[in-house]
Amino acid sequence: MTQNWKDEAGRDLMSLGGRLANLERGKGSHVWDTEGTRFLDFLGGIAVNCLGHAHPVVVDAVSQQAARLVHVSNYFATPQQLELAARLKRLARTGDEGRVFLANAGTEANETAIKLARLHGNATGKSTILCLNGAFHGRTTGALALTPKPAYQDPFSPLMPGVRAIDPTIDALEEAFQAGDVAAIFAEPIQGEAGVVPLPDGFLQRARELATAHDALLILDEVQTGSGRTGEWFAHQQLGIAPDAVTVAKSVAAGFPLGALITFGAASDLFYPGTHNSTFGGNPLASAVANAVLEHIENENLLENVSARGAELREKVADLPLVASTRGAGLLIGIVLDAPVAAEVASAALSRGLIINAPAADVIRLAPAYTIGDSEIAEFLDIFTASLTAVAAQHQENAR
Ligand SMILES: *Cc1c(COP(=O)(O)O)cnc(C)c1O
Repeated sequence: MTQNWKDEAGRDLMSLGGRLANLERGKGSHVWDTEGTRFLDFLGGIAVNCLGHAHPVVVDAVSQQAARLVHVSNYFATPQQLELAARLKRLARTGDEGRVFLANAGTEANETAIKLARLHGNATGKSTILCLNGAFHGRTTGALALTPKPAYQDPFSPLMPGVRAIDPTIDALEEAFQAGDVAAIFAEPIQGEAGVVPLPDGFLQRARELATAHDALLILDEVQTGSGRTGEWFAHQQLGIAPDAVTVAKSVAAGFPLGALITFGAASDLFYPGTHNSTFGGNPLASAVANAVLEHIENENLLENVSARGAELREKVADLPLVASTRGAGLLIGIVLDAPVAAEVASAALSRGLIINAPAADVIRLAPAYTIGDSEIAEFLDIFTASLTAVAAQHQENAR
């Protein structure tokens, strides 16, 4: 049995890695594979399944909207799409001038944001988009140019020109703006794929000041940090700044594919008819699911649970074996280990029925559902402690 699905995956799927188990159903924070093995899911489909699996709100929204209207194309509006655009504007606090473009994933939302940056740069005579070392904005050719990681970029050169990567430091930021050619800067408030790495204190505030002073756009990629993941609707709202644009995806529809670009102020007037669109983007099915999910998060005050459970988890893992420190916000947590054994810990956890991942050699990432409670946390701590203990023991053994 086990070998069968691995053989099929090896033969039929593009050879891109992954496929750790063959999962067939889920309920709440648990998933089961085809052999009936149960896993506690503390990765949440990479910060996506914010209501866990098979949540009745998602099930009802999908089934009711699927029975009513699934797709109409961008020639038409739908009530679901209009409701979602207004809701995203309200949650992002754009005010009346804000606008929303609905897409199908985070990368596509970022591609749209890159085109927004080019529209602005071409109107103001500026040719450079700044991105940050450590960033992840996606793997399509445009987003890839803003994702300065040699393993991702090098096989696909030449990349889109007009992009400059800088270190995420205030000094590098100030120097970069001196060139006078910056059309926009892209940043994630917390670099999730780099290992849940927050930007330095004051970085985004300074980026806001410099962008304003140099007539450049501040574009925040909140694909991973947005939609409530950090305990705020958007991570930047904690910093008292407003960007010119922000992208979301991942948790925004709890697992149904949807992404969005949300613009603020004058950036809302850059696109005009003919400059961009998407066949599937903003379809009534995806929009209905996002509306139901965001409404449920609001009605149930789930952001309070995100903050409280995030703090609880960080406190409870702090003294476990191998743990050096923790970082992140809300339920986007990086657990920094004191040795580069995160991949071993993740695989020890998987073999004990816990899904987590290792975005960096010494970092474990947790991104569980916003709905987790005492029992999920107790089960996580049991398995995670056993996994850390096993890996620590193995390393002591090897050192002897
Ligand atoms: C996941 C992610 C993306 C890519 O989103 P997709 O939905 O996979 O296209 C872009 N930016 C950030 C910060 C992400 O975490």
